[in-house]
Amino acid sequence: MSRCLATGIALCLTLLALLPVRAADESALKAGVAVKVVTPSEPLWMAGYASRTKPAEGKTHDLFLKAVALEDAAGGKLVLLTSDLIGFPRSLAEPVAEEVRKRTGLPRERLMLTSSHTHCGPVLRENLADMYPMGPEHAKKIEAYTEQLHRWMVEVVEAALKDLRPARLAHGKGTIRFAMNRREASPKGVINLRDPAGPVDHDVPVLKVETPEGKLRAVVFGYACHNTTLNFYQWCGDYAGFAQADLEAKHPGAVALFWAGCAGDANPQPRGQVEHAQTHGRGLAEAVGDVLRKPMSPVRGPFKAKLASVTLPLGELPSKDQLTADTLSKNLALRNRATRLLKTLETKGKLDDHYPHYPVQVWRLGNDLLWIGLGGEVVVDYALRLKKELSGGPPVWVTAYANDVMAYIPSARVLKEGGYEADSSMIYYGFPTKWSPAIEERIVAKVHELTK
Ligand SMILES: [Zn+2]
Repeated sequence: MSRCLATGIALCLTLLALLPVRAADESALKAGVAVKVVTPSEPLWMAGYASRTKPAEGKTHDLFLKAVALEDAAGGKLVLLTSDLIGFPRSLAEPVAEEVRKRTGLPRERLMLTSSHTHCGPVLRENLADMYPMGPEHAKKIEAYTEQLHRWMVEVVEAALKDLRPARLAHGKGTIRFAMNRREASPKGVINLRDPAGPVDHDVPVLKVETPEGKLRAVVFGYACHNTTLNFYQWCGDYAGFAQADLEAKHPGAVALFWAGCAGDANPQPRGQVEHAQTHGRGLAEAVGDVLRKPMSPVRGPFKAKLASVTLPLGELPSKDQLTADTLSKNLALRNRATRLLKTLETKGKLDDHYPHYPVQVWRLGNDLLWIGLGGEVVVDYALRLKKELSGGPPVWVTAYANDVMAYIPSARVLKEGGYEADSSMIYYGFPTKWSPAIEERIVAKVHELTK
């Protein structure tokens, strides 16, 4: 046998050995994508800042619900829903998940409901309820919008599941540096401003979804930074909205989906102008584009999912005298909270000393990715700690604002230091007091338990 022929046979055998495996891997996975515009059609009250005095006056660009469904070779599915919204309260997320389960059979733990936490979207029912100076007529409109949103959320998840077809998945990681820790030490304690030396997470995790032929269908990406570049009266997805629009313009036909990481104590810098949000958005889209252009690691099945509810304890509760004094405060949210809590004391005889339903979700995508979903406005300490403690295995992604946004989730360090994320934000979220420092260990322990 000539050397040439021998090489040829060896090459053929090598190819034969490789081809069926690659083909099996690639044809085994499926993905589906769906999109829905959810920009309010009337001037609703806007979410995120207590300082606003009137409803929205127009839009910079549309707000979206988007969903990507993934399916492994055995039919195991995962559906991620993203949104240009402030955050879903449990009272919206759970009925949506239950309806999805009834209509599609998708188990609860396989659905992750997330928000970008843009501060230029509409107020949603029960979320930051004590924060806004809106009258009953506006509250009624918010109720109607939230009901409509419920239907849209179910529809977009169903549509993504119906769109399932053969796909290739890959992941990678980029970096961008506009997120800055905002907990600045001052003579008055920690204030909400700028701490360039404070902890941040500048990772940009990317999931690529393409056809078996290599055409991009969807790109899922995250970043741990508040969508608070802007504070005006226009509907807008902030930097994340601009980043998604940039990516979709560069890749016609593909859908870009953004999720927020542990952004509780990070703000974009600089901020204040539409140009700042555009620049951050463009930078983030370029960081994602850089990842897409380089070789990425394949994501394979099987897809496993777990979801647990953790009871989070609160600190010391306020007395009736304290609440009565708070009803005379100049702070509207403090007055609203005190009035509501005094009513609870009257009717129930006591205030709740815990939150019973803190959601911790863990998705494992084969041996390729470990994807954690945490409820609330989680501060960055959690992501940095979990990535460190779970290092050595697949890359760890930590999505916050997932499944329920009930409050900020400070670490034990942040609780000790005080400031907005530890103390005063609890007023806006309607809790009677701050969290117990025990919450960090409870949450982290549950994540470890679910990753086993
Ligand atoms: Zn926030």
